[in-house]
Amino acid sequence: MTVHLVALKCLQCEYPLPAEPDEVVCACPQCGRTARLEAEGLVAQPVTWAEPRAGATPARWLPFWALPGRVVITSRETQGFRPTLPGMQAADPLWQQATRLWVPAFGLSLDLAKNWGVSLTRAQPALRPGPAPPDVPLRGCVVALEDARKLAEFVVLSIEAERPDMLSSIAFTLPDGTPELWVLPSDGNQLVIA
Ligand SMILES: [Zn+2]
Repeated sequence: MTVHLVALKCLQCEYPLPAEPDEVVCACPQCGRTARLEAEGLVAQPVTWAEPRAGATPARWLPFWALPGRVVITSRETQGFRPTLPGMQAADPLWQQATRLWVPAFGLSLDLAKNWGVSLTRAQPALRPGPAPPDVPLRGCVVALEDARKLAEFVVLSIEAERPDMLSSIAFTLPDGTPELWVLPSDGNQLVIA
């Protein structure tokens, strides 16, 4: 077994980073630069804070991965359930419009993470980047990008499995844009985004 120790120092100013165990993205307390922890070390990871809905008072800020681009369905087979009905043997039309595939970056059970991912991906919220709120540290980002991609595949599968045509097999590619990390405001129960 090889133990790989990585010095967590800011990429910009070399200030020691206060990452908690399990956290995979953290912000420098001195200069604010954000970075992602990978097996080979720290890499720059921009973080975007979303503008809250007008009038909302965020109680919590939750990190999410967004994979920008298109999900491309390369093959899709069904069990032929009532195949004559129009529109029954098609992938979800969502994939023609969706510009981001969403998954939570904070710790959740697999089931809950899938539910959040499915509902945000279906909603395709039009987010506006806003200023980072004062005195709110970036915390709780524990889902590594590699795991986020697996979770994203799970989100696509779940949405397709909900189609009425009894999916039997599917192949697709995930969006190929540079992964984004968004921090979204919540009132404690639900997201308060535009
Ligand atoms: Zn720094």
